[in-house]
Amino acid sequence: MLIAGNWKMHTDVGSAVELAREIAGDIGNPAPVKVAVCPPAVNLSEVARAVNETALRIGAQNMFFEEHGAFTGEIAPTMLTAVGCRYVILGHSERRQYFGEMDETVNRKARKAVEHGLVPIVCVGEHLKEREAGHAVDVVTRQVRAALAGVIVARPDDLVVAYEPVWAIGTGRTASPDQAQEMHAHIRVLLRDQFGGAVGGAIEILYGGSMKPGNAAELLGQKDVDGGLIGGASLNADSFVSIVEAAKNAV
Ligand code: PEP
Repeated sequence: MLIAGNWKMHTDVGSAVELAREIAGDIGNPAPVKVAVCPPAVNLSEVARAVNETALRIGAQNMFFEEHGAFTGEIAPTMLTAVGCRYVILGHSERRQYFGEMDETVNRKARKAVEHGLVPIVCVGEHLKEREAGHAVDVVTRQVRAALAGVIVARPDDLVVAYEPVWAIGTGRTASPDQAQEMHAHIRVLLRDQFGGAVGGAIEILYGGSMKPGNAAELLGQKDVDGGLIGGASLNADSFVSIVEAAKNAV
């Protein structure tokens, strides 16, 4: 199980450090659950330093697929590993929607992340219209195959996939536990096909989309739901930590 908080474009350096310290203190040693937060890029090094001695892991919200060069505004994978990042969220629907992120760029980023020892949290998920038209499985299949083409993983821990139905992100509307399980089981088949049963069967598939303390236990209790990617509820230490507690109970 992995519970990861996506802080999006929230917090300044002071509040980010404070929130991370509070979460790190409250979770103590959450094993076997892993817990990560993904602050805005400019706060990564301060947050990483503040929780260095704790079990809280750090991730970034995006990165570029080149290692250096004239790419104004971009952040290289080595810059993330240098400040202590373990994870990087890739292909979040907000990046796809507002910044033109395409399956192909998500794929280049995912390959580069793994090459540098960063664990990509690759986000996939259908829009409401696509679900209503009965195309959710096709859309997610296309996204998973495209994002992961040529990604080489030696161990299940090298990669995380997050199923985030776009209609559930920040809307207060979640996928039902059955809807989540159905799509996660499908993603599991795709991962087994690509990486073989042992690795593909153990790669964590997170659910994301309005996961909160009140619905976490049911979602995390599904067979193929191996954790959560949490947006809004990760900005409050109590809410986030109660989702971590739900994950511990679901293991
Ligand atoms: C997200 O942004 O990845 C997310 C799941 O957001 P929220 O929990 O706010 O729906």
